[in-house]
Amino acid sequence: RGDSAAADRTVDSVCPYCGVGCQLSYHVKDEQILFVEGRDGPANQGRLCVKGRFGFDYPNHPARLIRPLIRRDGVAKGLDPDFDPARPLTHFREASWEEALEMAARGLVDLKSAHGPGALAGFGSAKCSNEEAWLFQKLVRTGFGSNHVDHCTRLCHASSVAALMECLGSGAVTASFMQALEADVVLLTGCNPAVNHPVAATYFKQAARGGTRLIILDPRGQALDAYAWRSLRFSPGGDVALYNAMLNVIIDEALYDQAYIDAHTEGFAALRQSVVDMTPEAMSGLCGVAPETIREIARAYATAERAMIFWGMGISQHVHGTDNARCLISLALACGQTGRPGTGLHPLRGQNNVQGASDAGLIPMVLPDYQPVGDAQLRAAFEELWGAELDPEPGLTVVEIMDAILAGQVRGMYILGENPAMSDPDLNHARQALAALEHLVVQDLFVTETAQFADVILPATAWPEKEGTVTNTNRQVQLGRAAVAPPGEAKPDWWIIQEIARRFGLAWDYAHPSEVFAEMKRGMPSLDNISWERLAREGSVTYPCPAEDAPGQDVVFSDAFPRAGGRARFAPTRPLPPDEPIDADYPTVLTTGRLLEHWHTGAMTRRASVLDALEPEATASLSPGELNRLGVAPGGAITIVTRRGEITLAARSDPGMPDGMVFVPFAYVEAAANLLTNPALDPFGKIPEFKYAACRLSRAAP
Ligand code: SF4
Repeated sequence: RGDSAAADRTVDSVCPYCGVGCQLSYHVKDEQILFVEGRDGPANQGRLCVKGRFGFDYPNHPARLIRPLIRRDGVAKGLDPDFDPARPLTHFREASWEEALEMAARGLVDLKSAHGPGALAGFGSAKCSNEEAWLFQKLVRTGFGSNHVDHCTRLCHASSVAALMECLGSGAVTASFMQALEADVVLLTGCNPAVNHPVAATYFKQAARGGTRLIILDPRGQALDAYAWRSLRFSPGGDVALYNAMLNVIIDEALYDQAYIDAHTEGFAALRQSVVDMTPEAMSGLCGVAPETIREIARAYATAERAMIFWGMGISQHVHGTDNARCLISLALACGQTGRPGTGLHPLRGQNNVQGASDAGLIPMVLPDYQPVGDAQLRAAFEELWGAELDPEPGLTVVEIMDAILAGQVRGMYILGENPAMSDPDLNHARQALAALEHLVVQDLFVTETAQFADVILPATAWPEKEGTVTNTNRQVQLGRAAVAPPGEAKPDWWIIQEIARRFGLAWDYAHPSEVFAEMKRGMPSLDNISWERLAREGSVTYPCPAEDAPGQDVVFSDAFPRAGGRARFAPTRPLPPDEPIDADYPTVLTTGRLLEHWHTGAMTRRASVLDALEPEATASLSPGELNRLGVAPGGAITIVTRRGEITLAARSDPGMPDGMVFVPFAYVEAAANLLTNPALDPFGKIPEFKYAACRLSRAAP
């Protein structure tokens, strides 16, 4: 805890990292953030994790971009092992804003003129505000002229959203994570909240201490196991088999809620028929859980008075990710476990604003508030709001855009705050695509790995330097405030997007993010009764919100679902194998993810001094048995090979890892996990299978 008396001022804002959305205060002295303190926000009640508390000095890193950069003539695009992001001027030269903006926009405009609107695409960012997400997708739709706009939701919860939209008619959570305190049973699956949503994890611990039964289902062990009533490790990729076996038990033993099913759902007969042969005995071999244990957890969930399901990317990042989420939704619907306090479905959203960026329309198949681009009536409303004709065809998704570049379809891109040269699957392919772009504009804080492929780099503003709203995993819209000024000539993202838009001939004239928010409210019914002034006053308002003087709804769908007829839908599923099953040549399962200390591709946290000091080196986590088998001591080097690439890094002993599996975080460029990952996509959510690839391990030469 810092000494607030030593600070010149205190500015209230929100944490820039995960979707929990902790409210915090920046204590500022001499125009630098001195320390950070948690505030009494609805999602954190004063709590912060290590990232929120100590990861605040990345904006001051010496490699911070402070002027626009333009690639020098003749310098090849691509990752150069000798490239020093702190001294980029051998590859790029500094430019004025006017020159950089002219060049950035001209390259895109010329490609559109020569090849049509489909030649351009944009990646926005879930690290930016709602207003910036709105402006970015509006630029792509009304300036570029297509729906080729996407962002990192495609890599995290696109399959969850696809299933929720299909089955419930809404892509957001049905209840906040604080509702866990009201639940009798909390089922956590495919998530590791103590690492990825640490303050949400404190609520799960609190619930467990209060008597809630925590059931944890995951291939890997985790810190929350210590609080669990039951913690089951299922076989990687065995999730659909496990959930269907639970549904089989619930239906076979008549533990379902017939009254709820009759009143609120459709398609139960098809679900019943679909799971009839998926008994615990039949599925046990696929999921690796004993039949009696499956029965025990199914009974516990179904017979609880109030039960919630939380999930993370262990569910969504599979080629059967949408099926996984469909199963979890079926469990909740069959047992009537939604619409009441202490019940619900909650995909724990990743980035601080991935919910808001998705709501604001950074998705290629839907306009803001998930309104399909193909619906002529809905599209007409946005055409009137924006004064532009809109493309009725859904755009390409993240991985599809990379493929389209190499196919010669997409030739120019504008990438705001995303780092596909680290975050996309099969990085050799993704980097090849970035290098093939005829014109790439990158807007970011640093010369990220992606920016090393750019023609023009535009220096943007870090979260503690900007004003804007963000929406957390609980549907809480919260206001962030600028604590310090941006360094050098760095500019707010909304200002830069507007300057590019003007060069596309769009007559934009926003003077402040609040004006953008006012426009958003005209196209997004989800923001009804939430104004900028109210957010400034109250700090946080949950949507949907029934009145300007009423709180938002923490728990939704008590009476009806936002689908035709008001009924939710069961979507039956069958177990499918992973896209790339293990075999004799590649006998080990590779899975990837985050660390407590490092956020996503590390662009921010590896430049945050405390966080980088805590986890400075790339490591691969293996079971002690697996290390023994390889003859490697903890800290020794191993090589991991897949059909797409290989990396060598230090091994870490982790008793939570099952034998036959290795975990690698994707934050480290020097051992980039995504060189190895499989780009195969879930057919509905178009999300890659980051959680399962076949690999081979060996001890590396010292
Ligand atoms: Fe920030 Fe998430 Fe940690 Fe809260 S839990 S402090 S939002 S990273």
